Amino acid sequence: MRVLVTGGAGFIGSNYVRRVLSGDYPALADAEVTVLDKLTYAGNRANLAPVAGSERLTFVEGDICDASVVADVMRGVDLVVHFAAESHVDRSIAGSGDFVLTNVLGTHTLLEAALRAGTGKFVHVSTDEVYGSIDDGSWPEEHPLEPNSPYSAAKASSDLLARAYFRTHGLPVCVTRCSNNYGPYQFPEKVVPLFVTNLLDGEQVPLYGDGLNVRDWLHVDDHCQGIQLVAEAGRPGEVYNIGGGTELSNLDLTGRLLDAAGVGWDRVRRVEDRKGHDRRYSVDISKISTELGYAPQVKFDDGLAATVAWYTANRSWWEPLKERAAER
Ligand code: NAD
Repeated sequence: MRVLVTGGAGFIGSNYVRRVLSGDYPALADAEVTVLDKLTYAGNRANLAPVAGSERLTFVEGDICDASVVADVMRGVDLVVHFAAESHVDRSIAGSGDFVLTNVLGTHTLLEAALRAGTGKFVHVSTDEVYGSIDDGSWPEEHPLEPNSPYSAAKASSDLLARAYFRTHGLPVCVTRCSNNYGPYQFPEKVVPLFVTNLLDGEQVPLYGDGLNVRDWLHVDDHCQGIQLVAEAGRPGEVYNIGGGTELSNLDLTGRLLDAAGVGWDRVRRVEDRKGHDRRYSVDISKISTELGYAPQVKFDDGLAATVAWYTANRSWWEPLKERAAER
């Protein structure tokens, strides 16, 4: 079994690779894993350090938009798990060119190469943000795509390409759409690691607008478990939502992080709201639950405590990343 993981040096992709190579997924116990990653600011070889000695791991530094590199790594691959993307909404507001290139053109390059190589299964990892924003209830997979940020619009475009490659060519593609992830090794620009590391450094945390935007939180281990279920048994051409079931406003989340750090609200700085900020995301996960037996395992309080403990113990991982980001 040969598995190609794109974006395997990023936050979620590296979690998946670490779990595959640690034997957490019996179906991939002997799988050879190739990681294709461009090592953008968000990609980090250190994320794969725990499995770097594995003989089953091959790392290729390269761009998913580069058709010749992609054709090379696609040869003989049974399963593609496609994580590589520009993933930060704020950056897509500041400039969206790279989002369109990587998320749309890069996904197209991979789909085309998978088609030519006759790849067995292609799991395209997407996001709940493609649905837009919802005041009440939860989105089923059939809900129309109404993305509001350049990031989510580029992801939605890649979802449509994935669908087209199934409908037109029969390429066995599944799409997963998951909610907000948290956990170790997340680049410290996303809210949880940004806030935790700021608090560890004695700094304030920037809270957007009225803080009432609601997100559904999912531990990265549960997300990867859902992806693996889809990789093994998801029906080609289908979309599967993956959620965590813990809805929190940013205000609630901030309160919990302040509590974990043992500090008060004086450490919060209110900042102007993000442009076009989606109010609430909520995915209906009944399809993946009933079809594939998915159920999130990590209780939010336990997962958050473990995550805070990880950033506290791994300053050497995040300090250089924040220093480099500050220099730019
Ligand atoms: P990340 O930003 O931490 O990692 C992205 C990885 O992709 C990095 O290693 C980067 O170097 C690599 N990459 C970027 N452009 C590339 C290119 N052109 N060629 C090859 N590699 C490239 O992202 P993440 O948080 O791990 O997200 C992974 C996937 O999950 C993304 O597709 C994202 O849209 C999706 N997703 C993330 C979340 C979340 O909460 N983080 C939620 C839902 C969906």
